[in-house]
Amino acid sequence: MNRKDFLIKSLMAGGGLALLPSLLASCKRENIFENSSFKGSVGIVGAGISGLYAALLLKERGIDVQIFEASNDFGGRIKTLEGFADFKIELGAEYVHGNNSVWYDFVRNGSNNFVTSDLQDYYFLNGQIMTQTAFESTSQYAEIISLLDSIESYASSDISALGYAVLNGLSEELIPIWNGWVGNENGTDISKIGISGLSFVDQSWVAGEGDFLLKSPDFKTIMLEAFSSVLPYVQYNTPISHINYADSKVKLYDADGQEYLKDRVIVTSSIQVLKDQLVTFTPNLPPLQLQAINSIAMDKGLKIILKFSEGFWPNDLASIYGGTVVPEYWATGIGGRSAQNNILTAFVNGSAAENLIALGDQMIPTILTELDGMFGGSIASNNFIDHRFINWSEQEYIRGTYSYFPVDLSSDIRGQLAEPVNNKLFFAGEASHSSGHHGTVHGAMEAAFRSVKQILESA
Ligand SMILES: Cc1cc2nc3c(=O)[nH]c(=O)nc-3n(C[C@H](O)[C@H](O)[C@H](O)COP(=O)(O)OP(=O)(O)OC[C@H]3O[C@@H](n4cnc5c(N)ncnc54)[C@H](O)[C@@H]3O)c2cc1C
Repeated sequence: MNRKDFLIKSLMAGGGLALLPSLLASCKRENIFENSSFKGSVGIVGAGISGLYAALLLKERGIDVQIFEASNDFGGRIKTLEGFADFKIELGAEYVHGNNSVWYDFVRNGSNNFVTSDLQDYYFLNGQIMTQTAFESTSQYAEIISLLDSIESYASSDISALGYAVLNGLSEELIPIWNGWVGNENGTDISKIGISGLSFVDQSWVAGEGDFLLKSPDFKTIMLEAFSSVLPYVQYNTPISHINYADSKVKLYDADGQEYLKDRVIVTSSIQVLKDQLVTFTPNLPPLQLQAINSIAMDKGLKIILKFSEGFWPNDLASIYGGTVVPEYWATGIGGRSAQNNILTAFVNGSAAENLIALGDQMIPTILTELDGMFGGSIASNNFIDHRFINWSEQEYIRGTYSYFPVDLSSDIRGQLAEPVNNKLFFAGEASHSSGHHGTVHGAMEAAFRSVKQILESA
């Protein structure tokens, strides 16, 4: 797919889009390896979307599963804020990226409604807020969009997205928008992400087009229903700290030293959790996996939910790009999600997140000052009521937002992580998706599918 569709939410009004014929056939549940003789037990580390989907696929084949979750809840990077506004707010994943994935099918199921209002992005450029339509008529738009389009065919030695912009003479005033589109959207900032990795994603993306927001329900509610048959097998408050796969049975140990014996184990911990060695292994992981864990990157990230006495922004506002404090804001209560539409979400990754965290008490005033500068006077400061914020890097068993390709990282690296270890240990989770869907919900599900297939084929 053209990554531009992903980045610019011009297709959000997509409730009526027809499904693509291919429908990710390889990841449909009914197509999973039918002739497997595997009948053993499987331990799954993590009750995020990847762990739960793996459990569901295994349970459907009568395989015994036990899911170990470090925290006291399921969902991982899918998390809901309740009671702050007149609707449930997503603190983690919020958009369904593409209309051709197993997650799109899950979400679209039954009476779930996508937001179908006509919305457009806005841009803060040269001290002014402008509509998508107005931006598109400028020479600056032609400049930035042609740079964005050029990523897909990039074939030279790797360079950061910032370096690429400078090399190609992107006007300085467009850099914050470039960062919002290319860095922040991908979980970091333009100084760290590599153009080769972005190009690989553009070329390999098969999850369809568009970005979709649900009017209702929230993602957690969808998970509650979709995974009702496996949620009883989740053992909460059970961080797995060590896995010994030296013998025929794999031994998992929790933080209290309790041992669990399984025939196979799927690990869905985030790449940062693995990097920080919250789980250790005996024997040590093979070089392929170690290299992948050490080199796939994951950055700090925040979502800040801002409540105002009234929405002072245009009714058709989707996102605002161009801020230097916050690379992307979006109107969270749009399209009938909220009767009031008085909530903005600030989504901040990479260096901008570090800068905001360092501000401490001054974080919110600094954000409000940026919004005042965009919308005029003290309109944001005067209307501000309250906020909630989540620092994903401080969630002990997650430690960041989502994985990305830093400069010079080979596109094969995620495939290395996904290789079975001794046919007993399998890595799933978003970072192990090896064909361009890392950093997404559907990517985490597809990685789970692959792990389950590997287990079924391992007997
Ligand atoms: C702010 C934010 C916004 C996002 N926006 C989008 C979006 O709009 N669209 C989209 O598609 N994706 C989005 N994503 C990415 C998406 O949420 C993730 O790719 C996906 O949810 C990852 O699922 P997972 O199961 O791989 O990992 P996780 O959700 O991290 O689940 C892993 C689970 O394992 C547990 N765990 C880890 N280690 C251990 C251990 N040792 N023992 C026991 N339990 C352990 C963790 O507590 C966690 O519950 C966003 C993510 C964030 C943070």
